[in-house]
Amino acid sequence: VNSYRQALSKLKETLGDSKVFDDPKILYAYSFDASGLSSGRPFCVVRAFSREDVVATLKVAHKYSIPVTVRGSGTSLTGASIPSENSIVLDLSPMNKIIEVNVVDGYVVVEPGVRLDDLNSELAKYGYFVPPDPASSSTCSVGGCVAEDAGGMRGAKYGTFRNWVLALEVVLPDGETVFLGEPVMKCRQGLSLLHLMIGSEGLLGVITKIYLKIWPLPEKIVRLLALFNRVEDAGRVVAETRRNGIIPLIMEFLDRNVLKFVREATGLNLPEAEAAIIADVDGPSEAVWRYAEKLKKMMERCGAFYVKASDDPSEMEKLYTARRAAYPACLKLRPMPAVLIEDITVPPSKIPEMLKSIYIIAEKYSVPVVVFGHIGDGNLHPVIYTDPRKPDLWSRAEKCFEEICLAAVRLGGTIAGEHGIGLVKRKVLVKELEERKSLKALELMKKIKYVFDSKGIMNPGKVFL
Ligand SMILES: Cc1cc2nc3c(=O)[nH]c(=O)nc-3n(C[C@H](O)[C@H](O)[C@H](O)COP(=O)(O)OP(=O)(O)OC[C@H]3O[C@@H](n4cnc5c(N)ncnc54)[C@H](O)[C@@H]3O)c2cc1C
Repeated sequence: VNSYRQALSKLKETLGDSKVFDDPKILYAYSFDASGLSSGRPFCVVRAFSREDVVATLKVAHKYSIPVTVRGSGTSLTGASIPSENSIVLDLSPMNKIIEVNVVDGYVVVEPGVRLDDLNSELAKYGYFVPPDPASSSTCSVGGCVAEDAGGMRGAKYGTFRNWVLALEVVLPDGETVFLGEPVMKCRQGLSLLHLMIGSEGLLGVITKIYLKIWPLPEKIVRLLALFNRVEDAGRVVAETRRNGIIPLIMEFLDRNVLKFVREATGLNLPEAEAAIIADVDGPSEAVWRYAEKLKKMMERCGAFYVKASDDPSEMEKLYTARRAAYPACLKLRPMPAVLIEDITVPPSKIPEMLKSIYIIAEKYSVPVVVFGHIGDGNLHPVIYTDPRKPDLWSRAEKCFEEICLAAVRLGGTIAGEHGIGLVKRKVLVKELEERKSLKALELMKKIKYVFDSKGIMNPGKVFL
């Protein structure tokens, strides 16, 4: 108690009262993230406006051995950004400057609290963008995207944030600052600490400045909607496109129930089908319709009973809105109070088998499961409905969750494509590594964590059981 009191007065003395909060109402508000879980109440919240504020906070936390949970916008779906009991929440949302756009050298420099959509609005003025686009892009921070290695719809073509980070400024748990990587096209600096930081979920240090590669905006996009009577037929489209040399910009999957939820939640006029795919092809204006026609034929060959391609802005916007609304609609119209959301990723050739397994496993445990996801890169988000007040149902939902994860691993995939591990996937991470006979990897991860953070103050309880 004494050390907490001393730490609080030291933080207030160094940073000023306006940046340090211990009002219980504020602490309560910071106890959650988008996962809907709450693990503990922080003992104070620091709102950082600069790297110096971060350094000062970590020095105090380190001295008094107080846990720190870094927070971007709190949109984590795995509980990565909810604080542990009596921790300091370090809120980076005030660090929201776009520092430099350098088109010729091909990068942008930002503070971590910049919202992803704000960054892309600014880059659009130059005809550029940062491609990964989590569906939370209107809210999530760039720092959170790097720390989660977030993906999104355009992952089908451009991968996750990992592919776009050139360099990072990082404040280590003891308050020392390091610069990792360089803002150049190629950089080999011994072992890549830069890539250790990407996806590190606040476990190793605080990212305070980010250099991202930028890319020219697509010249033209044509959007397709395809409808299927059989889910597995939709699943076959991805392998078919790859076999024929087309990599779509986005390729999104929605099953019958997700389409229904989106229709009801948004009022959009969407057709009924067992499964739908929304896909974008992009490229030079002269070529893009040719690609779209090719893709349309492939979808028909796979069994689509309806395919429409359009470059009409309002039609395109409607489909994009439908896809972005998928998860919020699944939450809004949920038939049960709680959800477990999966993030499995399998090789494209295994998608039909994976889809089939999901519904079989759901039936086995008698739990409602709906599926949507970034099918273009094999990343599916089955949503399992459950109720924490009903122990039998909860246990069946947990078993269903685990069995879907294991099915993905056995098909050569992984339990987590883009949402990270956080609190929710710690157990299944162990299962995945066990299945691969690679528990040694977990041991190495824990040793690396110790090298960065020997006092274990950074986001304790996350990632590792
Ligand atoms: C509706 C909805 C849709 C979503 N869609 C997608 C999607 O399509 N693809 C996808 O990948 N994710 C998606 N997500 C998950 C989430 O939005 C992303 O993981 C996002 O990148 C998190 O950003 P954030 O700023 O909210 O981070 P937070 O939730 O605040 O933090 C996430 C983790 O990163 C750490 N962290 C944050 N900032 C820093 C920093 N500067 N330095 C060190 N550690 C830091 C935190 O401690 C925490 O462990 C979705 C979430 C929602 C609610």
